[in-house]
Amino acid sequence: MKKGKKLYEGKAKIIYATSDKNLVIQYFKDDATAFNNQKKSTIEGKGVLNNRISEHILSNLSQIGIKNHLVKRLNMREQVIKLVEIIPIEFIVRNVASGSITKRLGIEDGTVLKEPLVEYCLKDDALGDPLIAEEHIYAFDWASKKEIEKVKKMILRINDFMIGMFRGIGIKLIDFKLEFGRIKINGRNEVILADEISPDTCRLWDSITDKKLDKDRFRKDLGDLIPAYTEVAKRLGILHEQSNVSAVNVTKLSSVKKKSK
Ligand code: UDP
Repeated sequence: MKKGKKLYEGKAKIIYATSDKNLVIQYFKDDATAFNNQKKSTIEGKGVLNNRISEHILSNLSQIGIKNHLVKRLNMREQVIKLVEIIPIEFIVRNVASGSITKRLGIEDGTVLKEPLVEYCLKDDALGDPLIAEEHIYAFDWASKKEIEKVKKMILRINDFMIGMFRGIGIKLIDFKLEFGRIKINGRNEVILADEISPDTCRLWDSITDKKLDKDRFRKDLGDLIPAYTEVAKRLGILHEQSNVSAVNVTKLSSVKKKSK
């Protein structure tokens, strides 16, 4: 597959065109950002781990019937994905209160929610991805009721699957962010899961110690992020202690280069 020109560069990924107009290449960068881009750093090896972890989760979701954009991983940092029109909403799924909701509503960090809570944020960096109500989505035509109904059903299945998958490896799935996109499949309009699912987009706590194994290590200066992401990858069975799995030299990846804060 031939890599074409850069179509889009986001905070953590770059999208390139390919010779097939329906497919693009998603490149995982090492850049980390937090607090609406106010804190920035480059963490060597992060993109490699997120590429592997996201590939693993999305291909497992595909096996349980959750249609998504992943076609195949190409190499350490790149995967081929289906080109979709991204719905401009970040779907935040919470099982345990942490992060922004604790500050916004004065809820204690770690409060277990009675049932999963889905929040909607408008994808707009300039506005700081504001929280919106479902009604705003329809008022401003960001998505149709039919699309949101489909997305909500998918979200609950994704959440159930991921809770179980992580529980099995001693990790609590606290919360995560999902994005969905529109695509035509066999002439029919469909909504499929897009973007990435990785420790950059989830809160993952060790089941026993509550140790943070996600991007909060960077947000809150909790120490090296690479060993934590590597731990997630190893527990998922993607990386093995002895083998190099054609991807990550774990020792090399432990070095963290900070550009700026
Ligand atoms: N999240 C994300 N991208 C965003 C905002 C949130 O991946 O632009 C993820 C975040 O990593 C966490 C969950 O969504 O797992 C809930 O994030 P929260 O609303 O608590 O925001 P934060 O505390 O990151 O500001």
